[in-house]
Amino acid sequence: MTDRIVPLVDARRAKPLPPVGTLRATGPEPGMDTRGRPLRDLRISVTDRCNFRCTYCMPKEVFGPDYQFLPRSAVLSFEEIARLARIFKSQGVSKIRLTGGEPLLRKDLERLIGMIVDIGGFELTLTTNASILARKARALKSAGLERITVSLDSLDDRVFRAMNDADYPVASVLAGIDAAAAAGLAPIKINMVVKRGVNDHTVLDMARHFKGSGHIVRFIEFMDVGATNGWRMDDVVPSAEIVRRIDAEMPLEAVDPNYYGEVAERWRYRDGTGEIGVISSVTQAFCRTCTRARLSTEGMLYTCLFATSGYDLRALLRDGSADDQIADAIDRIWQVRADRYSEIRTAETAALRKIEMSYIGG
Ligand code: SAM
Ligand code: SF4
Ligand code: SF4
Repeated sequence: MTDRIVPLVDARRAKPLPPVGTLRATGPEPGMDTRGRPLRDLRISVTDRCNFRCTYCMPKEVFGPDYQFLPRSAVLSFEEIARLARIFKSQGVSKIRLTGGEPLLRKDLERLIGMIVDIGGFELTLTTNASILARKARALKSAGLERITVSLDSLDDRVFRAMNDADYPVASVLAGIDAAAAAGLAPIKINMVVKRGVNDHTVLDMARHFKGSGHIVRFIEFMDVGATNGWRMDDVVPSAEIVRRIDAEMPLEAVDPNYYGEVAERWRYRDGTGEIGVISSVTQAFCRTCTRARLSTEGMLYTCLFATSGYDLRALLRDGSADDQIADAIDRIWQVRADRYSEIRTAETAALRKIEMSYIGG
């Protein structure tokens, strides 16, 4: 196990900003990256902390009692996040997802939601493990949150408790989902990370349970994010297999994407009782239309989930740079972007010291 205990801080190193002035020629069009993809989505990690220790994300052996989370002084304030959101909007971002770590652990998150809503022009959503959603749902909705994604890896209590490794019960997540629906955050997306031999035998139960509920379960292939989750290709259940298994009992048909760059491939039940999604980062890369950037809790900007380094926007926020200078830096960063990790994944790339999911924001 010791070979999985890597100095995570190494992977957070900043790379220099691309130089001013010479870059337009590298992008096919203004606002596009080198592969012709626009910047549309920003995922903001509001904390690197979490009360779960999901084995595929924050394994206990690494994220134990001695693990050094970010000190308060390193963390972006709500004012800094809102300022960046405004600047990102000027660069084409129209969708923001708040994430983490566990975003609901960030104190007064409702205040940040209100600040982003006041900027206007964003579709705003949040991904949560739902551990405190039942008591937060109404406040989140009143603050202006529109939609929510809840992670739930199994309806089998024993399997779920083992996967979150915090002995957290299924019933409380279901109560969180119900509270969110009652607060007006429905339809809710439910993320299930599927790991072979761990929870894949509970896929059908999950599909059956939420069929007809109006909520949308999204089955996610276990990914080699970070450097600590012991990822192996053998543990991945290809989405095509998930679709086949569900279709055999509850017939499905493919549905067109809702918008350019949608991550989940959509399928609907032929009997009209709802839909599911599959997210196939490993077996069917979707880099070609990837419009996402990620802002870490301490203000590092990453242009790929599987990045090994990012750009330090906090330095610009705190060195007196004006908004248009920060906007220009973001523009330059996006212009030189060439990421397509999932298209070029190999056993060697999987072993790279990539940024941890809990830090970069899922
Ligand atoms: N704590 C929140 C939660 O779990 O919903 C938000 C952050 S979490 C990093 C965001 C999403 O990433 C969750 O749905 C989680 O299941 C997913 N995730 C984390 N590690 C993953 C991995 N190795 N492969 C696939 N999905 C993963
Ligand atoms: Fe926490 Fe979410 Fe990671 Fe699980 S997936 S450890 S809930 S951040
Ligand atoms: Fe986007 Fe990187 Fe994922 Fe490809 S691997 S879809 S570029 S985040």
